[in-house]
Amino acid sequence: MKVLAILYKGGDAAKEEPRLLGTVENKLNLREYLESQGHEYIVSDSKEGPDSDFQKHIVDAEILITTPFHPGYLTADLFEKAKNLKLCVTAGVGSDHIDLNAAVKKGVQVLEVSGSNVVSVAEHVVMSILLLVRNFVPAHEMIERGDWQVSDIARNAFDLEGKVVGTIGAGRIGYRVLQRLVPFDCKELLYYDYAPLPEAAARAINARRVQDLEDFVSQCDVVTVNCPLHEGTRGLVNADLLKHFKKGAWLVNTARGAICDKDAVAEALKSGQLSGYSGDVWNVQPAPKDHVWRTAKNPLGGGNGMVPHYSGTTLDAQARYAGGTRSIIENYLTNKPQDAGNIIVGLGKYETKAYGQR
Ligand code: NAD
Repeated sequence: MKVLAILYKGGDAAKEEPRLLGTVENKLNLREYLESQGHEYIVSDSKEGPDSDFQKHIVDAEILITTPFHPGYLTADLFEKAKNLKLCVTAGVGSDHIDLNAAVKKGVQVLEVSGSNVVSVAEHVVMSILLLVRNFVPAHEMIERGDWQVSDIARNAFDLEGKVVGTIGAGRIGYRVLQRLVPFDCKELLYYDYAPLPEAAARAINARRVQDLEDFVSQCDVVTVNCPLHEGTRGLVNADLLKHFKKGAWLVNTARGAICDKDAVAEALKSGQLSGYSGDVWNVQPAPKDHVWRTAKNPLGGGNGMVPHYSGTTLDAQARYAGGTRSIIENYLTNKPQDAGNIIVGLGKYETKAYGQR
């Protein structure tokens, strides 16, 4: 059987640091195992266009491994060509780069390593909230430049204490973000999600649900996006919604770039409607050199905390999602049941409610 993995290139870093498991070089630590079982294991970062390894090998691969950090976009068209495909495994969390409706139609299962990097991302969100609210990035840039003008930074630096923070999506990551904010004594912790938190979980962190999205954002000083990308969330944070944000709110998005409208966010930052935008996810990855989110700034020249997509690919996370990918494949090869929490699309149907209300 052919197993195809599309991973990101690790270069020298991956040769020097073997714990960079999710790279083309280190192959999720699966090579020996798969080859000892007599399977062919193709690993590449080449994923765009008809001549890419992705499109060349998808025609006869039975298992496809992809990662959200360097997404191989499995479109409905490619599903038509993928005659042998039975299983897609996302090494990580977030399978929006797979056309899930096409997977349902074609009877291809889609699994992810649920929970594998949710703490990694939640920590990054808390860091991003703090660096925006406290105006960290321009302060550090000033130091590197050799300047020292405290008032230029302090004029736009605040405490997180006493602010209202809300998450769009209160699943594994969103809930962990709110949990981690409890000791900061925020004024309120809010969430917007079509699935209410279990009562005891909401009570444990004193989180309040707001059911109308415009009403929700109008109450938040900080909004963090933690829902999957699907047809109900693509472009959810757009020019219309941004008008309902508090003037000067901060927005953190580590979920998926396409949940936020690229130009509307850049415009809101430029006008000061947003004081800051931070995150690690982009509508196209790798992001083009001239992507407006790389350099967008608020009127005071700060407010940009964007980084490449790495919050969920810390070395700790890589160990967990490499191990989880192997378990999923072992279960598949030995006909053992899969962990129910990992199944996004089962045979011919969605097994999760997180990718839209159906
Ligand atoms: P999860 O399934 O545990 O939780 C998702 C939550 O979002 C669910 O409670 C669901 O009901 C809610 N939701 C879905 N649609 C919604 C909508 N329209 N409005 C409000 N809420 C909605 O998933 P998770 O583990 O918390 O991960 C969430 C997402 O974070 C992933 O799908 C992925 O896109 C992203 N992620 C990013 C990274 C990274 O490295 N940046 C890593 C892991 C996950």
